[in-house]
Amino acid sequence: MTTQTTPLPAATPVGYPRIGPDRELKKAEEAYWAGRIDHAEFARRTRELRRATRGRLAALGLSAAAAAPESFSLYDQVLDAALAVGIVPDRFASVLDADGAVDDDGLFALARGTAEKSPLEMTKWFDTNYHYLVPEIGPETELHLASTRAVELFTESLEDGAGTRPVLVGPLTLLLLAKAQDGAPEGFDPLDRLDDVVEVYAQLLARFAAAGAPWVQLDEPALAADQRVSATELAELLQRSLGRLAAGTDRPQLLVTTPYGGIGDLLPALLATGADAVHLDLTRGELPTVEQLAGVDTVQLVAGLVEGRSVWRTELPTAAARLAELRRRVTAAGGAPEEVAVSTSVSLQHVPHTLEAETSLPAELTATLAFADEKITELVTLAGDEVAPGSVDGPRSVPRTFEGVSVPAVRERAAAVTAADAERADYTVRAEAQRRALGLPDLPTTTIGSFPQIPEVRRARAAHRRGTLDDAGYEKAMKDEIARVISLQEELGLDVLVHGEPERNDMVQYFAEHLEGFATTEHGWVQSYGSRCTRPSILFGDVHRPAPITVDWATYAQSLTPHPVKGMLTGPVTILAWSFVRDDQPLGDTAAQVGLALRDEVRDLEAAGIRIVQVDEPALRELLPLRQAAHEDYLDWSVRSFRLATSGVQDATQIHTHLCYSEFNVVVGAIDALDADVTSIESARSRGEILEAVDPDSFPRGIGPGVWDIHSPRVPGAEEITEQLRRARAVVGPERLWVNPDCGLKTRGYAETEASLRHLVQAAREVRAEA
Ligand code: GLN
Ligand code: ZN
Repeated sequence: MTTQTTPLPAATPVGYPRIGPDRELKKAEEAYWAGRIDHAEFARRTRELRRATRGRLAALGLSAAAAAPESFSLYDQVLDAALAVGIVPDRFASVLDADGAVDDDGLFALARGTAEKSPLEMTKWFDTNYHYLVPEIGPETELHLASTRAVELFTESLEDGAGTRPVLVGPLTLLLLAKAQDGAPEGFDPLDRLDDVVEVYAQLLARFAAAGAPWVQLDEPALAADQRVSATELAELLQRSLGRLAAGTDRPQLLVTTPYGGIGDLLPALLATGADAVHLDLTRGELPTVEQLAGVDTVQLVAGLVEGRSVWRTELPTAAARLAELRRRVTAAGGAPEEVAVSTSVSLQHVPHTLEAETSLPAELTATLAFADEKITELVTLAGDEVAPGSVDGPRSVPRTFEGVSVPAVRERAAAVTAADAERADYTVRAEAQRRALGLPDLPTTTIGSFPQIPEVRRARAAHRRGTLDDAGYEKAMKDEIARVISLQEELGLDVLVHGEPERNDMVQYFAEHLEGFATTEHGWVQSYGSRCTRPSILFGDVHRPAPITVDWATYAQSLTPHPVKGMLTGPVTILAWSFVRDDQPLGDTAAQVGLALRDEVRDLEAAGIRIVQVDEPALRELLPLRQAAHEDYLDWSVRSFRLATSGVQDATQIHTHLCYSEFNVVVGAIDALDADVTSIESARSRGEILEAVDPDSFPRGIGPGVWDIHSPRVPGAEEITEQLRRARAVVGPERLWVNPDCGLKTRGYAETEASLRHLVQAAREVRAEA
């Protein structure tokens, strides 16, 4: 028997930030990991964070039972779900206790690795900049109810108020995101374990029922993305998973959410599972048709009308009108329109806690923004009667028309762009000109840009920001560091040098701070993974470059050495991906503006004598739409913006790009279309695939598959790099192969950097000599 049959409260978000308004979670974790506080103090602090969060949500209007989602997680919600059902790879068997459960230290070991064991792999969560830990499962993984942390959190929430709504990654999404454990037989798919996993979820639901939870939320975002199985199979898998769970009687009511996009024709199958409530992302997805709503008579709809991943206020009158139309369709389909609840499109974990903490944003901009708390207020407003549907000037309909939003000169320039602006001469012509201009050996060696950021450099940047170090002192500190890094590279024998990026706190924020059209927050932190947070800038207006940004640093570096020094820029797609971006014009238009601003920088670098410019696009894959059907349009504008940035130079100027993710094959066509002369790419985890994709017929340009996995402190031996280079050269040929690490060295220490680069240069020389 289900515990109760109370409808979900009329306003409820899918999820809420968990790091805390002052990054309390991050601070507690880092103090605990460093041994500065003991476990009791750590537990006390995280308990206090949850109490404060629940209090805050109640004060915002989510005080009823199950109105507030329980969003707390020590590290990652996917890891939590995996641990709940016992999905732990064999190499971590030692962290399990006698019941197969994992304590906090064990959980952190899985997430962060130990001296002997590599952690679970980390990957981007759908098309966001949040990273989850990839569960590893095999045919023999012993699935059982291994952790009841989530039930304990619910019980604890009853101490703080009416009780939260427990949230779990759903069984289907969990297995679609999982990978086969090393050593699993060929052909094994994590989905093969669906029935077993569902069985454990059923036991977990029974525990929630016993604890008195009226609702449990299962997140199934996998339904919003194209998957390795067809839509028909997905519909069937829904029945086998959610259908089975809903058919159980010893359970709370079930809310199934489908954030990150529309689920289209899967809706009837989802409604047919017997779930008590179903959430739809109506910001990316369309309103369902009456036909798709067949079956809604027994299901409460939860309308995700407030965009959960942008920082813009919702046009409430528009949202109210869509809500009214949805209610009309629900009525037509035989459902109960008054039961439709309003929600966010996705968890609010992707936006900062509250605007209240910001003191320095321009007032006109602030008036158009909404962070997590403000979005909850929007939900509460929308669920009430304050917004007349269809009224044109309802509350909070704030047009963005203040200074900087629309800059005529920027628009005129973008409108005047021609196809020729995004074209360079034929690659063979360029390659020849570059060979003559640069005179590099075969298998040239280089790095990706940043060198380890030593404490002195961080301190100088922070002091300059605070105003305790003047401009001259700051410039001297940076130049000293650049000189040190240049002479180190010369001593190591690298062929193409970098200035080391000491002046950059972050590869996107640095450019946002030097371009017009961006605003920077003081406290706008969002979780990237675990304790790591980023503070994305807000791209609100037309983007242009008031003055050269990197030219002085690059030319100073070049003045110290006869070897070519690469100019180093962040590409338009990555700047968009890691900022909060305006939604009042197509993304492609915004990307083109950024591309043109960077084009000016690239040309100024060239004019100042820089012969190689690298434009990094590590986020090209991240923004790739979750649906195949939308890829073409995305690749079109993303590639165009990169080419606008890089096509203004002479044939002899060499353009590099750098990408860092392992699924090279997914975007190989786009990488080809970028038309960069040289592409360096992360390849620690997928070397074979990359080499397959870059045979000269399909990819004729320079390529540097990373030969040193910089994500680990391990120093690769010269032998193993030599081996990799031999294999790569056999496919790519000696003229096109570059020798470089996987990514920037910012997070590495000097000891391993020097040793690894020494091996890298040694290996390149050896393989070169074998030609
Ligand atoms: N040039 C950047 C660096 O070396 C690239 C970083 C990245 O790819 N994420 O740090
Ligand atoms: Zn990288």
